[in-house]
Amino acid sequence: MLQIEGNPQMTQDHDLIVIGAGMAGVAAANKCASQGWRVAIVDALPYGGTCALRGCDPKKILRRSAEIIDSAALMRGKGIDDAGLSINWSDLMKHKHGFTDPVPQNIKDSLVGNNVTTLHGRARFTGSDRIEIDGRAYRADRFLIATGARPRPLDFPGHEHLVDSTAFLDLDALPPRILFVGGGFISFEFAHICARAGSSAVIIDRGERPLKSFDLDLVELLATRGTEVGIDLRRSTTIAAVEPSDRRFRVTLERAGARETIETDLVVHGAGRIADLSDLNPDTAGIEWSEHGVSVEGHLQSTTNPAVWAAGDSADTAGMPLTPVAVSEAKVAASNMIKNTTTTPDYAGIPTAVFTIPELVRVGMLEQEAIDHGIDVAVRYSETRGWYSNYRIGETTAAVKILIDRSTDQIVGAHLLGPEYGELVNTLGLAMKLGLTTRQLKSTTAAYPTTGSDLGSML
Ligand SMILES: Cc1cc2nc3c(=O)[nH]c(=O)nc-3n(C[C@H](O)[C@H](O)[C@H](O)COP(=O)(O)OP(=O)(O)OC[C@H]3O[C@@H](n4cnc5c(N)ncnc54)[C@H](O)[C@@H]3O)c2cc1C
Repeated sequence: MLQIEGNPQMTQDHDLIVIGAGMAGVAAANKCASQGWRVAIVDALPYGGTCALRGCDPKKILRRSAEIIDSAALMRGKGIDDAGLSINWSDLMKHKHGFTDPVPQNIKDSLVGNNVTTLHGRARFTGSDRIEIDGRAYRADRFLIATGARPRPLDFPGHEHLVDSTAFLDLDALPPRILFVGGGFISFEFAHICARAGSSAVIIDRGERPLKSFDLDLVELLATRGTEVGIDLRRSTTIAAVEPSDRRFRVTLERAGARETIETDLVVHGAGRIADLSDLNPDTAGIEWSEHGVSVEGHLQSTTNPAVWAAGDSADTAGMPLTPVAVSEAKVAASNMIKNTTTTPDYAGIPTAVFTIPELVRVGMLEQEAIDHGIDVAVRYSETRGWYSNYRIGETTAAVKILIDRSTDQIVGAHLLGPEYGELVNTLGLAMKLGLTTRQLKSTTAAYPTTGSDLGSML
C-alpha cells in the first residue's frame, strides 16, 4: 500500500484508482486488490453509495411500514381491526438509521482489510492518467469511474425548491401534502409509502403513460390501485412554476394549455437521473461521455482513453441503472483489467422492480419489443387477484403477463403485478438466464401453498 503524507504536490502512483465507493466501485476495488494490485478508492461522501445509504435499502425499510398498514387495510372485515394503526415516522427513521449508519465504516474496514487505500474527497481529472483530490495529485495506470447518478437538472421556475430522493429518505417528519415531479419509479414508490402513512400524494407526469419501461396493462392496474389509496396521478401535465407561499409551496400545473395551482408542503424530484460526471472534469482526460455515462466498449473500457474504465450508473451501457447491474459490470471490468480480456457483461434475466404496494416487476422484453424482434410470441395474461395466494391476504389487484417464444418454448419476458412477485420474478429471471423451457419450469414442484406454487398456472 502506498501512503505519501505531507507534501500535497507529490504524486501518488497506483495500479488502479476507483472513483466512487458505491456498490460498483467497492466490488472492483476489492477484486483488483485481491490480485496484489496497488488500489485506491475515493468518495466525496461516506462510503456505501446510493443503494445502501440513499436508495434501495433505506427505501425498502420505509416501505415495510406501509406494507403493514396496507396489509391490515386489506384484511379489514376479514378478521383484522386496523382502526388506530399508524406509522410512527420518527421511530421508522431510527430503524432505517440502524441499518444505514454502520455502512460507511463497515465498508471502509473491509476495504482496508483488503489492502485498498481509502481516500475521501471529490476527485477530478487533471490529465489522461492523473486526478486531483482536494489539491493532492494522484497518478494511476488505470481508473475505474463508478460515480453513479444524480437527479436530472430541471429548468422550470422554482426548481430550486425541490428536494431530491436523498432528502426524502431522510425526512424527520412526513408532511401532510407531498407532490412528486415525474412519473418514474422513485415517485411511485415514495407516493405509495406516503399514502399509507397518511400524507396526500400527487404525482405529476408530463406523459400520458407513467412508468414507461413497464408493461402498459399492469401499469394501468397499478395506477387504479394507487387511486384507491388516495394517490392523485396527473398525466400529460407539466410544472409551470414552484413558488414559496405562506402555506409552504404553490405549484402551477399546465395541462392542455390550461393552468391550475395547487398548494403542497413538499415538492420531490422524481424526474429521472443522469450520470454524475460533470464535476469529474472528464474532458481533460480525453474521456468521451454524455448524460447517459462514460462511453465504453462492450467490455467497459472507455472508447477514447484506454486507461479509463467505467461501471454502474456512470457507464453508458445496455444495463439498467440497478444495483445488481452495477456490481456485475464492476466485476467484469475488474476481471478484464486483471486478465487483459474483453469479456462483456451478461444482462440476460436481470429483473427490475417498482416497490409500490403491491410491487410491479419486469424481466426481459416488453410485449411490443418481442413483436418488434419478430418473435412468434404467445402472451399468457392472467388476472391473479382471485387466486388463492391473493385471496388469502385480501389483495384486490394482481395480474401477470408472461411472454413465451412459441418456436423455443422459452420465456422472453415476464411482467408481474402483485404481492411477493418481486421474489417470484427471480425464478423467471433464472429460467431466462439458463434458457429453461416452460415445460421444464412446469415440471418443478414448489412448496404449497406459496406464491411460487402459482407459477405453473401462470405459464
Ligand atoms: C431512491 C432510489 C431508489 C433505488 N432503488 C433501487 C432498487 O430498489 N433496486 C436497484 O437495483 N436499484 C435501485 N436504485 C438504483 C441504485 O441505487 C443504483 O443503480 C446503484 O446504487 C448504482 O451504483 P453505483 O456504484 O454505480 O453508484 P453509486 O452507488 O451512486 O455510487 C457512486 C459514488 O460515487 C461518488 N462520487 C460521485 N462523483 C464523485 C467524484 N467526483 N469524486 C468522488 N466521489 C464521487 C458518490 O458520492 C457515490 O457515493 C435506486 C436509486 C435511487 C436513487
